[in-house]
Amino acid sequence: MFDPNQLLRPHLRSLVPYSSARDDYKGSEGVFLDANENPYGSITAEKWNRYPDPYQKHLKARIAEIKGVNPEQIFLGNGSDEPIDLLFRAFCEPGVDNVIINPPTYGMYKVSADINNVEIREVLMTEGFDLDVNGILNATDNRTKIVFICSPNNPSGNDVDLGKIEQVIKGFDGLVVVDEAYIDFTNRASFADRLVEFPNLIVLQTFSKAWGLAALRLGMAFCSEEILSILNKIKAPYNLSGLTQDTVLKALANAASKDEMVSDILRNRAELKTELEALDIIEEVYPTDANFFLVRINNAKSVYKKLIEQQVILRDRSSVVLCDDGIRITVGTKSENRVLIDALRKLK
Ligand SMILES: *Cc1c(COP(=O)(O)O)cnc(C)c1O
Repeated sequence: MFDPNQLLRPHLRSLVPYSSARDDYKGSEGVFLDANENPYGSITAEKWNRYPDPYQKHLKARIAEIKGVNPEQIFLGNGSDEPIDLLFRAFCEPGVDNVIINPPTYGMYKVSADINNVEIREVLMTEGFDLDVNGILNATDNRTKIVFICSPNNPSGNDVDLGKIEQVIKGFDGLVVVDEAYIDFTNRASFADRLVEFPNLIVLQTFSKAWGLAALRLGMAFCSEEILSILNKIKAPYNLSGLTQDTVLKALANAASKDEMVSDILRNRAELKTELEALDIIEEVYPTDANFFLVRINNAKSVYKKLIEQQVILRDRSSVVLCDDGIRITVGTKSENRVLIDALRKLK
């Protein structure tokens, strides 16, 4: 049986987490003289004088319905960056343990590893930006704690082969993170549906992309109850502000408008693909399952700079491994995409 507590950093096994009197009294009515708050209210129109719910009960109940998981399988953090960092802090002994990533991939895994002084082992993706399953499994040793898989992958845009993800989850006895930040833009089912089957799986999703709430900073990790209780033990007690919890809860009443925006983005994505492919300076538009394209452009660096002069800002990925002459383009509104295409036309 997989037990995440066996992967835990030794000093955390006896950790006594921060506790507040609200852990002893769960009611909402009462005379609350326990947390040194201001009893009168706030200097704003809305009342923010009370500390927020550390476990975000109401928000999790609603997210659980939408995502089809148990509230006991949800961790909410200040962006996906928070659970990524917490996983390092919980499971990776600095200078001793290691994790595996599959470049070209999302930059935050390496930054977080570097901050925590944890060795990163890079197993390059194969041709067509897919997982090198044997390479990954061969790169693991008994100090490998986490394998990070990003799908749809940033910056390439494609979903990696789902069978290969499964082979890694089954073949590796540490934790496997599947980062699904772009899940709303792809057709496949989420790995969050398979948490019971795979106790070593952690699925990341976010409100920053499809939901249009990047500024609120709300990321989700779906995982087993055992992993959740470890993350809850080491997180900052009030990691999500009351403002974020309230605002997102209200936004979730209007989930249909997220779906409409996603449909618009998917339509724009198809149109943009056709337009990009018709341009001579574009050498390749890679397949995407996300809300962006990786394209190969002649002299990418110079194109990138010339577009900035026209106030069109793309993401230069030309220095990233396997992304020579690569530029990442987010799918915008119809009119934004028009501006981009016109700007690219002027360049040739
Ligand atoms: C954008 C993105 C995220 C989201 O990060 P947040 O901290 O939730 O805004 C996570 N993973 C990948 C691969 C991304 O591209």
